[in-house]
Amino acid sequence: MPIFVKEILDIKGREVVTVDPGMSIADAAVTLYEHRIGAVVVTDHMGAVLGIFTERDLVRAVAAKGSAALETRVSDVMTKSVTRCSEETTTDDLMEIMTGGRFRHLPVEANGRLAGIISIGDVVKARISEIETEAEHIKAYIAG
Ligand code: AMP
Repeated sequence: MPIFVKEILDIKGREVVTVDPGMSIADAAVTLYEHRIGAVVVTDHMGAVLGIFTERDLVRAVAAKGSAALETRVSDVMTKSVTRCSEETTTDDLMEIMTGGRFRHLPVEANGRLAGIISIGDVVKARISEIETEAEHIKAYIAG
């Protein structure tokens, strides 16, 4: 049985840390650190998704501009074209999307609104649980 994004969110919750596009890179780094996360979704005042900003973008900005990057705005370095998934997306699909797009975060959209975020860590956890369940079924089948 595949595991769906909905089941992952039911366990981990649907809260998404968002930031304003005008926030400085320095403040965005503090936000990532304080929430112990690797990505924030950038939204406007209506909650519409404008982009995604991750630790990778932080590293790229600092590598390109040095410490001056810290004063620039999130909107200058965020990825504007955000790939999303839905609650009906399976772990197999998540792995394919993340591997193909070379990113580790996938915001979830439901009814046109932000409804959670899946990280590669969530996918690994779900896959392990999937494999464990399959192993239990096989053991029960062999034993019985
Ligand atoms: P990550 O591996 O998630 O830290 O992201 C690597 C790069 O991909 C960064 O430039 C991110 O802004 C970008 N990125 C991360 N997640 C997404 C996504 N869901 N859609 C589009 N770009 C993304």
